[in-house]
Amino acid sequence: MKPDDPNLKRLEPPKLTVLEQTYLPQILGGLAVTGRHILGAAFGGTAVTVQYPEEQHVPTANYRGVHRLNKDEQGRVKCVACMLCATACPAHCIDIVGATAPEGWDDREKYPESFVIDELRCIFCGMCEEACPVDAIELTGLYDLTGLSREELIYDKSKLLSVFDMTKDAEPMKTGNPSPSLPQPTTPLDPEGPGPRSTATAAQLPSRS
Ligand code: SF4
Ligand code: SF4
Repeated sequence: MKPDDPNLKRLEPPKLTVLEQTYLPQILGGLAVTGRHILGAAFGGTAVTVQYPEEQHVPTANYRGVHRLNKDEQGRVKCVACMLCATACPAHCIDIVGATAPEGWDDREKYPESFVIDELRCIFCGMCEEACPVDAIELTGLYDLTGLSREELIYDKSKLLSVFDMTKDAEPMKTGNPSPSLPQPTTPLDPEGPGPRSTATAAQLPSRS
């Protein structure tokens, strides 16, 4: 498009009054919001600050935290190494090495010999979960990602499977394809409100093997 194109729509900056040019209305508006929250918290309103770690934050049901690799009813990794999650990942932080499924795994041709997610590169967008055709990868309510080295936050297959073991009771598989042997939610998850999230913490996970 050229600068003289008639379809070009030019936007002029709004003209500010003398008072607006002092920014006092905006400053006072911001202070009013701050004051409203202070008074609300002081007089029984909803406080948005929790005294972590003494007080544990309970994320909402649609919170996207640390990943897990789900297991099927036989305890095997559900993943069939189709690579769709790695392809969908905008941060390129999923690395999968697929291999021929072990003998007796008649429901699939491949399985992930290696499955690694770099939690430091992840932007927790949830695209991997959306892309997975067999609900093998999910994001959990674990949010306290801490470590003393970068390596600790690169989760391999065993660590991702241990997240499943740690969270499966509080957070049954969300969609489709649930393993019948796993406990199912007694009440539907409320996407807006606090849900039955895991009280486990990522710091309890075993070190990378
Ligand atoms: S949540 Fe998003 S950025 Fe993180 S691994 Fe999944 S697709 Fe990649
Ligand atoms: S986790 Fe799902 S999308 Fe990713 S490779 Fe495994 S089966 Fe495919």
